[in-house]
Amino acid sequence: MNIILLGPPGAGKGTQAKLIEERHGMKQLSTGDMLRAAVAAGTETGKKAKAIMDRGELVSDDIVVGIIADRLDAPDVKKGFILDGFPRNTAQAEALDTMLAGKGLKLDAVIEMKVDDEALVERITGRYTCAKCGKGYHDRFEKPKVAGVCDVCGSTEFTRRADDNEKTVRDRLAIYNRQTAPLVAYYGGSGQLKTIDGMADIGKVTRQIEGLLKGV
Ligand code: ADP
Ligand code: AMP
Repeated sequence: MNIILLGPPGAGKGTQAKLIEERHGMKQLSTGDMLRAAVAAGTETGKKAKAIMDRGELVSDDIVVGIIADRLDAPDVKKGFILDGFPRNTAQAEALDTMLAGKGLKLDAVIEMKVDDEALVERITGRYTCAKCGKGYHDRFEKPKVAGVCDVCGSTEFTRRADDNEKTVRDRLAIYNRQTAPLVAYYGGSGQLKTIDGMADIGKVTRQIEGLLKGV
């Protein structure tokens, strides 16, 4: 199965993509994660993307379309993929359509996760990640079982994203509303769009997504 998780920054796309990966064996393809890895590795792409990402703006379509095109050819996406953070505008959605047609692949569903702006700011400013295994946490909504120790790998090192501050979050939300929200109409027209209540707690959001995937 091939799906898109569509929603603003902080909607819970990464959290749910990892749970879908575990349950269904589909592969999470997060352009944000891939770009952050390129920045950390100091590649040419990373050098081009860093300042843009720190400002919360979108990196060029060519870069992200190229990244996704390469990833879709890898053997680990054979069981399907979960696009998280891509496409981000109509040009990327059109490039994806062309790419999938060329590879003989199709989308099974586009799941829109709806969350209010104030909740998004709270989710993003409280977000942190295990520095070793990448497990995501939140200061209020998803704490490790033992304070300061990762549930998954036991590491005591955690990181926060440079762009997860209130000023950048508000700029990212404005960009989402201007450039990415039109994709709801783009996919709505094709009948692939399903909308869920992303305001619910993590478990309830997972159950809504599972219900939708059963019907696909
Ligand atoms: P996205 O990938 O859409 O930017 P994340 O999955 O990283 O969002 O979630 C943002 C933050 O909100 C994380 O700290 C995560 O633990 C928390 N979170 C995710 N889903 C929910 C939810 N349904 N309710 C409350 N907090 C959530
Ligand atoms: P995310 O991890 O999805 O919140 O993305 C973090 C940042 O990476 C964004 O604010 C953008 O700067 C960049 N980015 C991620 N995905 C894309 C994309 N599909 N198109 C353009 N920029 C992206």
